[in-house]
Amino acid sequence: TDREVLAEWDKKHFLHPTSSIKQQQEEGPALIFTEGKGIYLKDTEGKEYIDGLSSLWNVNIGHGREELGKVSMEQMAKLGFSSTFATFSHEPAIQLAAKIAEITPEGLDTVFFTSGGSESNDTAFKLVRHYWKLKGLPDKKKIVSRRKSYHGVAMGATSATGLKPFRDFTTSLAPDFYYVDSTPEAFKAFIEAEGAETIAAFISEPIQGTGGVHLPPQDYFKEIKAICEEHNILFIADEVITGFGRTGTFFGVEQFGIVPDLMSVAKGITSGYAALGGVIISREIHNDLIELSDGLFMHGYTYSGHPTACAVALKNIEIIEEEDLVNNSKLMGEEMLQGFKWLQQEHEIIGEVRGLGLMGAIEIVKDRKTNERFADPLAPKIVAESLKRGLIHRGVIYEGADTLIFAPPLTIDKYEINKMINILNEAIGAVKKELA
Ligand code: PLP
Repeated sequence: TDREVLAEWDKKHFLHPTSSIKQQQEEGPALIFTEGKGIYLKDTEGKEYIDGLSSLWNVNIGHGREELGKVSMEQMAKLGFSSTFATFSHEPAIQLAAKIAEITPEGLDTVFFTSGGSESNDTAFKLVRHYWKLKGLPDKKKIVSRRKSYHGVAMGATSATGLKPFRDFTTSLAPDFYYVDSTPEAFKAFIEAEGAETIAAFISEPIQGTGGVHLPPQDYFKEIKAICEEHNILFIADEVITGFGRTGTFFGVEQFGIVPDLMSVAKGITSGYAALGGVIISREIHNDLIELSDGLFMHGYTYSGHPTACAVALKNIEIIEEEDLVNNSKLMGEEMLQGFKWLQQEHEIIGEVRGLGLMGAIEIVKDRKTNERFADPLAPKIVAESLKRGLIHRGVIYEGADTLIFAPPLTIDKYEINKMINILNEAIGAVKKELA
């Protein structure tokens, strides 16, 4: 079917996620992708683009991996679907659960499977509340998250999301969700005001992704974890973006020397080749649940532990290990940051640059010294110029930001990083010219 027809059907029949509905209606789809290979995506016009955000921070092993097609086909042909509810099980889910226990930090041993990150977080919230209820503390139910956080779009996940535009978009949210500033002091003050006996858990991304790739101060999480332990509050790490090698370690928490009580994962677990997520819980919580559970655990998705998704995840993790992609993420992350620093020397409108592994950000400023921003943010214009030149990345402009963010596939090499930086250099140059 030719592009014009596809674009017409798209406008008429397809409500796009996280989109401007009006713009979509007026302009139709900007790009219709047809295939991908490595860090590249190709569209209907045959034009190639560097996928500078690994699509949605998830295509960690890169596009077009035939190995994953092969395991999908084999698994579907053998057992396309069967249930994991109650006492039923199947080999791909069991193998993946064991593999996850092996690669996650010591003590995190048991996984509940979901179909994505939002479901993982909603599961974590229900699970921690259920846990405290079983412990005889039903009032311990508040969930505390950080400002600028993003935890997904299910009702609990939206309610936990600190970024306002995602919450303001609708009317009512789930009760018992609270946000704090990103300092240990703010969390302590919150506990003092509300009472630890009312707080079930603290949730945080190791590095805030959607909010604009914000790294925490080095000791932040150690302090937060200590506060949690002191007050009997569970710590949930949202590793949906940071998991599976993104930051240069297998999981983001490893960068900060902590082990959470629960960990949400999705995205990189399959590199996007299948829809899968999970909540990994500590041995201790699992043991308590075994001891205290009185009735049924009434929570499960039809696709909890989908056999094909689990088979894809296993192969994906095998590839990450065999190709040493976690280490490549670390090395190429350093390369990318060097590139950002070079751009910073070339362009006075670049303020702070930062990154860890293959998660990076460039701040656009009007004045480097004062950190003053342009009244009309430049990030969208730079993103558009990059796109013209064959690079896809994202601009963050909510809550006063003017930030470019990047997260290319973990398979990227030096040559490709350079290519990305050169396109950015041209794109920023073009926007600067417009300003003058
Ligand atoms: N948590 C984090 C940190 C995320 O970045 C995302 C998605 O971007 C989610 C949760 C939600 O995951 P999903 O879109 O798979 O529901």
